[in-house]
Amino acid sequence: MYATLGKIFDQTVSQYPDKEALVDIRRGQRWTYSQWDEEVHRLANALTTAGISKGDRVSSFLFNNSELPTALFACAKIGAIFNPINFRLKAEELAYILNDATPEVVLFERALKETVAGVAAQFPSIQFWYIDEDVPDYAVNYRERINAASTADSTVEVDEMDTYAIMYTSGTTGRPKGVIHRHRDMAEQSMTCIAMLKYTKNDVGLVIAPMFHCAELHCCIIPRVQAGASSIIMHQFNPQAAVDTIEKEKITVMFAVPTMWSMMSDIEEADLKVKTLERGLYGAAPMAPVLVKRVKEVLGIDLIQAYGQTEMGPAITFLAEDEQLTKAGSAGKPAFNHEIRIVRPNEKGPAEPDERLGAFEVGEIIVRGPSMMAGYFHRPQATSRVLYKGWYHTSDLGYLDEDGYLFVADRVDDMIISGGENIYPREVEDVLHEHELIQDVAVLGIPDEKWGEAVMAFVVVKDSSLTEQHLEEFCLNNDKLARFKRPRTYRFVDELPRNASGKIQKFLLRELYAKSNV
Ligand code: ATP
Repeated sequence: MYATLGKIFDQTVSQYPDKEALVDIRRGQRWTYSQWDEEVHRLANALTTAGISKGDRVSSFLFNNSELPTALFACAKIGAIFNPINFRLKAEELAYILNDATPEVVLFERALKETVAGVAAQFPSIQFWYIDEDVPDYAVNYRERINAASTADSTVEVDEMDTYAIMYTSGTTGRPKGVIHRHRDMAEQSMTCIAMLKYTKNDVGLVIAPMFHCAELHCCIIPRVQAGASSIIMHQFNPQAAVDTIEKEKITVMFAVPTMWSMMSDIEEADLKVKTLERGLYGAAPMAPVLVKRVKEVLGIDLIQAYGQTEMGPAITFLAEDEQLTKAGSAGKPAFNHEIRIVRPNEKGPAEPDERLGAFEVGEIIVRGPSMMAGYFHRPQATSRVLYKGWYHTSDLGYLDEDGYLFVADRVDDMIISGGENIYPREVEDVLHEHELIQDVAVLGIPDEKWGEAVMAFVVVKDSSLTEQHLEEFCLNNDKLARFKRPRTYRFVDELPRNASGKIQKFLLRELYAKSNV
């Protein structure tokens, strides 16, 4: 009963009513916990007046705004199910999620007006609530509803085993799937993150990664609320503005995906502006050790790494600041309340949890812990493929070293088999990242008559003088890369397609390759 997000919110409000809770930079608005509490209650009551009751879905289709966490806690209060949607989705993809999640209400904003206009007519039963002033005729005025609502607390009974949210996966390997998280799972994840990231009431966190993704929401926003800390929300990421805001708001802790850390360390005089920053977290995608080192050199902080999946809440393992050099390239060890195993992959179904592999043997990473999802929203078959004998099967390949540290090799589907040898694109990418003229790189397998598959690298260069021949020599002379693993083909591109959580969309690169080879 206790471990609901509504109760967690109430506890902080009663403990730290006058502490700054939230700053929305776009609107120049600052809220203490008691002021934010009023807003949360108003939204909860406005939703109830609009007919939303326990178990109904409320979606947000927003960039980073204070309305997103407000909606999260308002839903938690009335037992409605919160569903944050990726703001990068195009109209057809948005329609797919709306059909799947079947929300009653969707909150949206000016910057996404055109996308919503493209789908609104298909969903006559959905109420579209608009958070800005220029309200389109098919939408409801969010601010008017809020202003008319009372600040009375909700009387709805919410249990810790009730669903709190449906979060969609990134869709890296196919259509996004709706992950069901319960209140208790998220209370557990919040405690894990408070312990691992050492949040206290004195922290001021910067929000630059997308809030619809569980890394920012569950590893940063919710635990900071629980700890009584503040969150400063930037509407959209911009490296210069992020560095300036760290200085202005005296930020102490933040999460960013690897590309954001890399872009911030390219900003002139960044080192002088980030002096208050004590802790930095990255995850959601791999980061080459050479980039982690660069962040240390330029920004002066050792990053903490988290590894996980939406299905796990997300964070399962952490690599602490002081392990970055001794265990470079590792994703760390499981958090105190999580377990991981490396097991023999099974092509025909879920891998058997007891078929464990030894140190340094690559197999499928399976995990368990208290923040594991309840299942995929109305997808029992997909659920039973990944939740098997109490373990979540990640479809990631990896190994444990002699000290039990996890090394994530790659996704099962991205592994390259060339001439019968397994090649993990990530190790080739990590080596190429060491070349000083390479900005970004993605490695994948392409069909090859002789070898079955051959290694190909898509490269973004810092200087156009870099040629395929230079890279071939660099790989041949690099003692970390066996000859058979080196790329046989290079393609120079202006940028790599990445999704909002920083993952390279390799399926788009495969399409690009296929198109240029017909
Ligand atoms: P879909 O299931 O729809 O394809 P997705 O798996 O990309 O989407 P997420 O839950 O956002 O959705 O991503 C989880 C995956 O991200 C992990 O399984 C892993 O492959 C990758 N990942 C997360 N953290 C790290 C990390 N620290 N290092 C390397 N890879 C990571």
